[in-house]
Amino acid sequence: MAVLINFKICDNAKECNGIAVCKTGALSWDEKKNTIKIDNSKCVSCGACEKACMIQAIKVARNDKEYAKLKKEIDNDPRSFFDLFVDRYGAMSVHPGFMAYEDKFDVEFIKTNKPVVVEIFNNDSIKCLLHSIPVKKLLEGKSKIKYRKLEIKSDRLLKKYKIAELPALLIFNQGKLIGKIEGYYDVGKQRALKEKIDKILGKIKPV
Ligand code: SF4
Repeated sequence: MAVLINFKICDNAKECNGIAVCKTGALSWDEKKNTIKIDNSKCVSCGACEKACMIQAIKVARNDKEYAKLKKEIDNDPRSFFDLFVDRYGAMSVHPGFMAYEDKFDVEFIKTNKPVVVEIFNNDSIKCLLHSIPVKKLLEGKSKIKYRKLEIKSDRLLKKYKIAELPALLIFNQGKLIGKIEGYYDVGKQRALKEKIDKILGKIKPV
């Protein structure tokens, strides 16, 4: 009957898993408006998109009553996208919606139209496990930026992006690497890290 998206927590990206699994075209990407488009006249309430959305931003209603209930829940949801961030690397649980995988790296980061910040970490490194870059705070207010964490499983990306030290942040825009920050920054160095990130993001010209 109808699909709803909670845009308060959705990062509204072209690579939306919901779009990928929707066989009827009820969910699609609007190139002109740069947003996920919903066409409820095509929705058959199969539920595939709801299952595919890892941050549970997509909801499917089977009838009017359910639609009204879900809409109210979304309207009253106090969260924002940034509330889903977890500041730590591997040791703490990371919201699955923010995890990225090496085999999908090119699709998620190279072919996306958004600026992307990727934290790369190694689950075997004590520094990556015990220390954190407080990226949540550093990216607050930058809602147009896509943010992901990626656990490194091979040296392919380390070689490709010449990463010598982990954890590392890779920053992409329009598929191009525009900056790289390597190594651990403790809380005392937050300001230095923020300045570095802002300097890199400052290279992006508004479109
Ligand atoms: S419920 Fe099914 S048909 Fe409707 S938008 Fe989701 S995947 Fe497409």
